[in-house]
Amino acid sequence: MNVPEMFGSMVFNDHIMREMLPKKVYQSLQNTMIEGKALDEDAADIVAAAMKEWAVGKGATHFTHWFQPMTGVTAEKHDSFLTVDKNGSVIMDFSGKELIKGEPDASSFPSGGLRATFEARGYTAWDPTSYAFIKDDTLCIPTAFCSYTGQILDKKTPLLRSMDAISHEAVRALRLFGKNVKRVNATIGAEQEYFLIDKEDFSKRLDLKLTGRTLIGAPASKGQEMEDHYFGSIRPRVKAFMTDLDEELWKLGITAKTEHNEVAPCQHEMAPIFDNANKATDANQLTMEMMKKVAERHGFACLLHEKPFEGINGSGKHNNWALSTDDGENLLDPGRTPKDNAQFLLFLTAVIKAVDEYQDLLRISVASAGNDHRLGANEAPPAIVSIFVGEELDHVISSIVDGKPFDGGGSYRLDIGTDVLPKLARDNSDRNRTSPFAFTGNKFEFRMPGSSFNIACTNVMLNTAVADALASFCDELEGAKDFEAALNELVGRELKAHRRILFNGNGYSHEWEEEAARRGLSNYRRTPDALVHYCDEKNIELFRRHRIYTREEMESRLEISLDEYQKALHIEASTMLEMLRRQILPAAMRFSAFLASSIQTKESIGMSTGAENALGEKVSALSDELLARIEELERLSSGFPSDAEEAAFYAADSVIPAMEAARRACDSLEAITDKSFWPIPTYSDILFYV
Ligand code: ADP
Ligand code: MG
Repeated sequence: MNVPEMFGSMVFNDHIMREMLPKKVYQSLQNTMIEGKALDEDAADIVAAAMKEWAVGKGATHFTHWFQPMTGVTAEKHDSFLTVDKNGSVIMDFSGKELIKGEPDASSFPSGGLRATFEARGYTAWDPTSYAFIKDDTLCIPTAFCSYTGQILDKKTPLLRSMDAISHEAVRALRLFGKNVKRVNATIGAEQEYFLIDKEDFSKRLDLKLTGRTLIGAPASKGQEMEDHYFGSIRPRVKAFMTDLDEELWKLGITAKTEHNEVAPCQHEMAPIFDNANKATDANQLTMEMMKKVAERHGFACLLHEKPFEGINGSGKHNNWALSTDDGENLLDPGRTPKDNAQFLLFLTAVIKAVDEYQDLLRISVASAGNDHRLGANEAPPAIVSIFVGEELDHVISSIVDGKPFDGGGSYRLDIGTDVLPKLARDNSDRNRTSPFAFTGNKFEFRMPGSSFNIACTNVMLNTAVADALASFCDELEGAKDFEAALNELVGRELKAHRRILFNGNGYSHEWEEEAARRGLSNYRRTPDALVHYCDEKNIELFRRHRIYTREEMESRLEISLDEYQKALHIEASTMLEMLRRQILPAAMRFSAFLASSIQTKESIGMSTGAENALGEKVSALSDELLARIEELERLSSGFPSDAEEAAFYAADSVIPAMEAARRACDSLEAITDKSFWPIPTYSDILFYV
């Protein structure tokens, strides 16, 4: 396998563009990509023609505008290049207009009422900052999705806006240090966790098929307690899947780098090399799609749900985040000189301020029915947002804030701009796995996002909040007479003000919950508890200031999220009811009938029936209880209120507890029912396949 040759072979990348486009067109496309200038129509026609020629040469017959509507999955509508020319011959054609703008019938994508009140249709617009690629013989053109009156209907547009916002403010901040850069990019490496299970088991479970997770199932006799799966040797079947996945991703220009087993049985992880936020988001969406597709080819089902199995770890997506200038300087790298250190401390302080002030937005960005099972459970960060900076940085911050002697260096208080920071240990990520937001030497790792999430939302929040902190710092420092004194004052003051968000201890402990409450940090355990803060005035103001969302757009997004949550639970409840009524209860009845007839037969010949009687009693009692739970859940699941917010709280307050109670009865039954009567694959079957 020639990896360099294969890498990006299905991508219309810079190399191909340089080769195929006239110099002038290439240059104007570069301007579009770097400075966000519009591409004129003549240039667009030339780019489109080149793209088509390249794509047809690779066997493509169709093209599609590939976009990320609010559903969280990517959407595409395929058109063929096929056109009939004026002589009646069939030709392959693709115009600049078709490249730049598409008009999918968008009326059935969620819009939270936006399109209904304004304009019924939406359009997709090419995002030239992410490369076009070929997938399934189709040229896919990454696009943004808007309504005709300009309201945004997707996840990409706000991400691009937030990247512009943070670039703008970071460029300003760098000017204070005498640096003249054009662009600062948020960089992201999204580590993706997933489960692979046998396709046959998957297809026998309605819950996995319809909801992505097991709604019932007693624990297997072995879980993850032996800790033998993490980094363990990879099953040959899984290895073959990973090799194939790497190849598919490489062809798409996705830098799949690390593949390994995770903590839970059947759980794995893939980490790519980081890229700018836009490309990393597109790449992650494609990665999830490819994982599912490649799994099929290997007789697997790939589960991207946050908690497919109760009692063992769930899956997340670690969002590694940093800032990088166009000449490649990482602004979260502490640097070696006092001046570098001062700049680093300013950016670090901006992140700390941003995460403290907008902890609710970060929590909201990871809120979903699926992730609620994970956050706050034993293996995942809690629902409380806090930052881990590590011991060395903590000393630095203490010195700045409290004036404590700093690192034995002699000086009483750290003088920013004069003193050199102690050398920070790199990659201390494993020192605190319980922190939701950890500094890992030259980047932050946000560990709360769920495995199935589109990472755009999280990064919109993060980019915008940090941009806002930087903006306020620049406002203050730009006018300062003595820059160094003003910087010292600002960093000290802001770190002091936001120190409560720093926490280096065990995030899983109960004491932390109490301590966090004392510090006034928010702790929104369930999705609706978090979501209702989305449209708090301070959040609306933040997004308005940086031109990310209007109030209407935020209200519509809130509506969509609440609705998505209650629908997910409605589907789970219905699926559970169907399984319990039509599979589990009948199985329990067959088993009781079997016991009853054994009792009769055995009694007729005078054999002892103690065991059958005892077991029969238990099975019958649990079946009665299960039926009562089913009826209760049926009653509740037919009573969802029509208002989205009410429905979301109803789901959380009433439906979830009823589902849990039904599950307990079912799982107790499973534990005592003859396996040959049990109608669906169990946890042991699924998690310990060969
Ligand atoms: P590991 O966790 O295996 O030690 P790293 O912590 O270096 O590896 O990287 C984990 C993820 O963070 C990878 O996806 C990597 O590309 C990404 N990453 C590394 N540096 C940055 C950066 N400056 N910005 C964003 N992501 C980064
Ligand atoms: Mg890591």
